Formats: sequence, structure tokens, C-alpha cells
Amino acid sequence: MPPIIEIDHLSKQYAGGTRALDNVSLSIEQGEILALLGPNGAGKTTLISIICGLVVPTGGTVRVGGHDIRTDWRAARKLIGLVPQEIALEPFETVANSVRFTRGLYGEGPDEAYLEQLLRSLALWDKRDAPTRALSGGMKRRVLIAKALSHRPKVLFLDEPTAGVDVHLRREMWTVVSELRASGVTIILTTHYLEEAEEMADRIGVIDKGHLMLVRPTAELMGEFGRKQLTVEL
Ligand code: ATP
Repeated sequence: MPPIIEIDHLSKQYAGGTRALDNVSLSIEQGEILALLGPNGAGKTTLISIICGLVVPTGGTVRVGGHDIRTDWRAARKLIGLVPQEIALEPFETVANSVRFTRGLYGEGPDEAYLEQLLRSLALWDKRDAPTRALSGGMKRRVLIAKALSHRPKVLFLDEPTAGVDVHLRREMWTVVSELRASGVTIILTTHYLEEAEEMADRIGVIDKGHLMLVRPTAELMGEFGRKQLTVEL
């Protein structure tokens, strides 16, 4: 099977002059979980934002499911779901309506059977009629995932899914991601935590100052460098 995402010589220089990405090339296989690991300002969000069509690159190409995001954006967009770093929900809307709303934004008609399956898989079914503002932090994050999966994308991006959350919630997210893996969706997540990348990902890409330093299978990377050395370098 061809890679679901092909990134070729991608660069981004922001208007202020910051070179956030420099000549990044990367292929992502269908069904894999890839963690992008790197410190603050490394370029992780910029990379995800370009693939998701939120930031325009200054050079290079991105293909999603074979579709060039510049020339064939409509087709590429349907294959992508994004869980942004910030929690942004409609506070007075119910969980179910919030997910329906996002599905509509993708131009998809209602699919109540899929909605039920999705909410059940994320342990949100019992909360479907609750306003999102009444939910715990962990549930809010799960609603964001449900919204991102509402149009059945093939690739899910999670931008720092556990930033600023406690250890309990971090572990809860790890469980949610490992359950999503079983559904066959490809997952790309960004994180500052080596432990998290090691726990969840099949492959880890280390990104720093806009450069993709290396990409390796998780076990190989841990074997080669060891946790201590990688943590120090981050
Ligand atoms: P973090 O882990 O803190 O979210 P990151 O690895 O996601 O960081 P980016 O947010 O992609 O990194 O930022 C990469 C660089 O680009 C940083 O130097 C940042 O200040 C800069 N940058 C990001 N967004 C913009 C923007 N809209 N305009 C100008 N510079 C930006």
C-alpha cells in the first residue's frame, strides 16, 4: 500500500522571518502511530498545521492519500481529522450536537448509527445530551477526538494531546489512542514527553529547530539511544 502521507522537502518561513521548518521529508504508512517529539518551538505544530491546510508552506509538497494539498485540497481534507492543542468547544451545545456540527462542516450528511458507534467507543454515549461545558477535562478532550473523527477520516492528528494535564488524564489519553489504533486509523501526535512517544508510537520522529533529526521505529530508537540520552538531548 502507498504511504497515506508523503511530505517532500517541506519548508516554512513565517512572515517575521522565523524558519519554522527546513527541508522536511517524511512518509507515513497507513495504520501506523507516529509521534513527533521535540521541545518548544521545534516546528511540530507548524508541520501538522501545513498538512491540515491551516498554514501555507513556503516550499515543498504534501500528499494525503495521493492528493496534493495545494491542488487537490478538497479530497485531501476529507481524509484528515485534527485535534488541536487548545480545547475549543461550543460550551452550550450538547456533546452529540457538537459532533454533528463538525460532521456538517465537512459537508457530510447525518449518520446517527456512526455517531452512536463513535460516542460509545469514546465512552461519551451516556453524556450525549450533556452540554460540553459540564464535562470533565478528560471528557472534553474525548469530545474533540469525536469531532475530529466525525467524517470518518483516515488520518487523525493529535497536537500535544496531554499538554498541561495530570498523570491520570495522560494515561487515559494513552488508552484512548491505543483503542483507536484498533479501528485502523493512522495517528500522528506531537509531544514533549519521550515516555508518551515510547508508550504510544510505532515510530518516533525527533524534530528540533525546524529539522527532522531522525525517524525510527520506537524500539530501535530506544535501543540505540536509550531514554537517558534522548531525554537529555530534548
Ligand atoms: P510547541 O511545542 O511550543 O507547541 P512547536 O514544536 O509546535 O512548539 P511551532 O509552534 O511550530 O513549534 O513553532 C515553530 C517556530 O515558529 C517557533 O519559533 C515559533 O515561535 C514560530 N511560529 C509559530 N507560529 C508562528 C506564526 N504564526 N508567526 C510567526 N512565527 C511563528
